[in-house]
Amino acid sequence: MKLDKIFEKNSAWVSEKLNVDPDYFTNMSKGQSPEILYVGCSDSRVSAEELMGLGPGDVFVHRNIANMVPNTDLSSMSVIDYAVSHLKVKHVVVCGHYYCGGVKAAMESADLGILNPWLRNIRDVYRTHRAELNGITDEEAKYKRLVELNVQEQCVNVIKTASVQKANNERGILVHGWVFDIHSGKLIDLKIDFGKILQDIMEIYRLA
Ligand SMILES: [Zn+2]
Repeated sequence: MKLDKIFEKNSAWVSEKLNVDPDYFTNMSKGQSPEILYVGCSDSRVSAEELMGLGPGDVFVHRNIANMVPNTDLSSMSVIDYAVSHLKVKHVVVCGHYYCGGVKAAMESADLGILNPWLRNIRDVYRTHRAELNGITDEEAKYKRLVELNVQEQCVNVIKTASVQKANNERGILVHGWVFDIHSGKLIDLKIDFGKILQDIMEIYRLA
């Protein structure tokens, strides 16, 4: 790929936007008020806004390997706090995807250096749901299920944060778990039961 092409495409995009609305960028520079925080995978095939049919200003995005929300990760914790407490998003979405390289790596026995502590979080998801996963004999089905369970557990991690609990008490906020099926292009809603998860974890994880 020639990087010059990117600058040409950018110029074309600017013209296209200005043709439709001459104030497009002037308005954009005034600020942002997205209603959705999207936490997804860094995978180049899972382009957050494009797959949702959304554009600039619509969604606050955080991406990392395997859409994780680790408790000690300053980056994801800061993104959640900023989006929820300051931008006051109404929805937090954790979106995983089938054929996720991060999840695949966590299913294999290999020393991956600096990736070990990151992928350890996915191995912990496996351990938590070992009975169900070990009952699946088909490897691809097991891989897909771990992707879904990882999304579910990252939703739980989102709900464990003080900012989300506080926002829920004050104005109500919803947490959703989705999976993008690379094979079909379809977005699947895992229909995470936010209310039930909240109720289940509050005994131990209540912060607000
Ligand atoms: Zn991935």
